[in-house]
Amino acid sequence: MEERIERIKKQLHAASYKLTPQREATVRVLLEREDDHLSAEDVYLLVKEKAPEIGLATVYRTLELLTELKIVDKINFGDGVSRFDLRQEGVAHFHHHLVCIECGAVDEIKEDLLGDVEQIVERDWNFKIKDHRLTFHGICHRCHDVDEKENEAE
Ligand SMILES: [Zn+2]
Ligand SMILES: [Zn+2]
Ligand SMILES: [Zn+2]
Repeated sequence: MEERIERIKKQLHAASYKLTPQREATVRVLLEREDDHLSAEDVYLLVKEKAPEIGLATVYRTLELLTELKIVDKINFGDGVSRFDLRQEGVAHFHHHLVCIECGAVDEIKEDLLGDVEQIVERDWNFKIKDHRLTFHGICHRCHDVDEKENEAE
């Protein structure tokens, strides 16, 4: 955790920003909840537990800054809420998501899997791809298991 904060601090410095205590509190929440996909309000409520004086606008600005510097990614799973997701370190490519339409769980796929698709798009559309977003909507293995158990009981 401390090492990652140190590296994020350097990324901010490289872009002439400081890791102020407010920004650090926000970064810590994102690191602690790395597997979650928090909205700005979620982040704000968690940061507030540690730094009660912080305002929502400050958290918003910090999240926008981190997005601009590509430390986090802003994603939307189609529910109209922007969520903030830490990028994996040293990976230009942004991971993929599986969103469960029953329980709302969000799982991540870290492997890319799309190399062939990108090649086709680059060739046929003469488009230089930098990255992509991929979200699958469906029913997760946990909800699947519940369905199966219910069927067995019937
Ligand atoms: Zn994610
Ligand atoms: Zn589910
Ligand atoms: Zn990918």
